[in-house]
Amino acid sequence: MENRTTENQTLPDKLNFIEEIIEESIRQGEPRIHTRFPPEPNGYLHIGHAKSICLNFGLAKKYNGKCNLRFDDTNPVKEDVEYVDSIKEDIQWLGFQWDGEYYASDYFEKLYLWAEELICKGLAYVDNQTQEEIRLNRGTVQKAGVDSPYRNRTVEENLQLFRDMRAGKYADGAMVLRAKIDMAHPNMLLRDPLMYRIIHTDHHRTGSSWCIYPMYDYAHGQSDSIERITHSICTLEFDVHRPLYDWFIEKLNIFPSHQYEFARLNLNYTVMSKRKLLHLVQEGYVSSWDDPRMPTICGLRRRGYTPASLRLFAEKVGVAKRDNVIDLGLLEWCVREDLNKSAQRRMAVLDPIRVVITNYPQEKVEYIECVNNPEDVQAGTRSVPFSRNLYIDRDDFMENPPKKYFRLQPGGEVRLRYGYLIRCEEVIKEADGKVVELRCSYDPQSAHGESSDGRKVKGIIHWVEQKAAVEAEVRLFDRLFVSEDPEEGDGYLANLNPDSLKVVKGYLEPSLAQAIVGEKFQFERIGYFTADYDHTKERPIFNRTVGLKDSWSKIAK
Ligand code: ATP
Ligand code: MG
Repeated sequence: MENRTTENQTLPDKLNFIEEIIEESIRQGEPRIHTRFPPEPNGYLHIGHAKSICLNFGLAKKYNGKCNLRFDDTNPVKEDVEYVDSIKEDIQWLGFQWDGEYYASDYFEKLYLWAEELICKGLAYVDNQTQEEIRLNRGTVQKAGVDSPYRNRTVEENLQLFRDMRAGKYADGAMVLRAKIDMAHPNMLLRDPLMYRIIHTDHHRTGSSWCIYPMYDYAHGQSDSIERITHSICTLEFDVHRPLYDWFIEKLNIFPSHQYEFARLNLNYTVMSKRKLLHLVQEGYVSSWDDPRMPTICGLRRRGYTPASLRLFAEKVGVAKRDNVIDLGLLEWCVREDLNKSAQRRMAVLDPIRVVITNYPQEKVEYIECVNNPEDVQAGTRSVPFSRNLYIDRDDFMENPPKKYFRLQPGGEVRLRYGYLIRCEEVIKEADGKVVELRCSYDPQSAHGESSDGRKVKGIIHWVEQKAAVEAEVRLFDRLFVSEDPEEGDGYLANLNPDSLKVVKGYLEPSLAQAIVGEKFQFERIGYFTADYDHTKERPIFNRTVGLKDSWSKIAK
C-alpha cells in the first residue's frame, strides 16, 4: 500500500490554551498532571458536562496523568445518590474511567479542622448577622462594605461558637463562619466570604453527622489540594473566585493546586441549567431526565447519540477563553458523521401510500439483496421481501410536480431502492382527494440497476413490502425550544416547541423487528433512528435521532 503522509498528519495538532498552560508547567518542572471532574450530584449530567469530562479526562490521557471523579456534595438539600449513580454511568458510557472516586463530604472533618486553624490564625470569625444584614453590609462595587459588629470576636469566643455550631446548638441561619479578609476589597467575593452555614438536613452520605456545611469556595480548592490536583479546570464565571481559591490555600499553607478557567459550552435552542432541566422533568414538560429531547447525556443516549459523536462534538467545539454559543447543528452533524460510518441501512415508510404493481404476479414474493452499509463492505447484505403490494412514502409522490421532480409522478418512472423500475399508471384517491394508492407497472428486466432498453431514470425511492411490513411506533423528535435563545421573551417555558414530539405509525422492513434496544439504523433517505428503551419485538418503537439533511457540513469541515 502506498504510504502517503498528508500535511495534517505530520503537523502536530495545534494546542488549545489549556494544553499550552500544561506544557508550560511541564517545562517548568511539573512532574505530573492531575485533573478532576467535580460534579455536584444535584441533577443529571448534560452536554455541557460532557465537554468538561472530555477536557479533564482527555488532558489526563494526553499527558499520561490522572483524572479524579469528585462529587462536590456540600449541599445536602439538593443532592441525592440517584444523581451520583447516573453521573458515574454517564462518564463511563462516554468512554472514560476515573482514577480515584472521591467525595467532598469525605473531607468534612479535615475542612472543619482547617476552619479551626483559620480561626486560630485570626482569619475567620463567627457572624451572627442575618443573611439580609450580611448582604446589605457587603456594600456594592462602588461602595465599601461595613464590618460586622461580630468581626472582632476573640479567637476563643470564635472557637467556642464554631464548635457549638457543629454540635447543633443553633438553628439554621442563626450564624455563619466567615473568612476575615477585607470588607472594602474591590472583589466583592473577598469581602469576608462565608465558609460555613448551619443546615439541619441529613446528607446522602454523611447522614446526620453534620449540621454545618462548607460553602463551595471554601470546599473546592481545599478538596483539590487534598487530592493534589495540579490543574483545576472550571468554567469562566469562576475566574473572580480564583483569588479566594488561592487565599485559602495560601493561608492554610497546603498543596498549591491552581485553577484555570475556560468558556462554558452554550448551545442554541437548549437550556443547560440543572435547575431548569429539573423543572422541565418535575412539571411534566418532558417525560424524564432521559427524555430524548433533553440535552442530558442520558437523554442524548436514549435519542441515539453515540459516545463517539459526543466526544467528536467536544473536540470540534474546542476550548475557548471567551463565552460563545455553539449551533445545535454541530452536535447533529457529529452524530450523523459517526452513524454514517457505523449504522446499518434499513428501509422504512413513515407516511405510506400503497403501491400495487399490476403486472407483477399475484402471489409471488421474491427477496432482494440490499446493502447494509455502503460505507462499510464488512456489513454485508440482507434479503428484503418484495411483492406486488408495497408502501412508499407520501413525500415521494407528487401529482402535479414542478420541473426537475425526479420522484414518482403520474406517467413517471422511478427506481425502487435495490429493486425494479416502476411507472405510475393510475392514481387512486379518497373522496377528499387524498391519494391512497398508486397503480404501477414494473420493468421485469430492470433489476440490478439496468433497464430493458438502456433508459436512465434519475429518482430512487425506498419502499417496504406490505404484508411483511412491521408496524412500529416512530417517535419524531424535534428541538425542544422554538427560539435560538430559549430565555428570550417570556423565558424558556414560553419558548417550548409544541411540536417537539410527533408520534407516527411507521411501516418497517421485517428485519427491524429483530432490533435490540439501543441499536441504531439509518432509515434510508429519512434519517438515523434507534430502538427505544421501551422497544420490544412485539411492540417496536424507534426514536429519530436526527434527520439526514446536513446543513452544517460546509461550516464544520
Ligand atoms: P449547572 O449550572 O448546569 O447546574 P454546574 O456548573 O452547577 O452546572 P456542576 O455539577 O457544578 O454543574 O459542574 C461540574 C463541572 O462541569 C464543573 O467543573 C463545571 O464547570 C462543568 N460544567 C458545567 N456546565 C458546563 C458547561 N455548560 N460547559 C462546560 N463545562 C460545564
Ligand atoms: Mg454547580
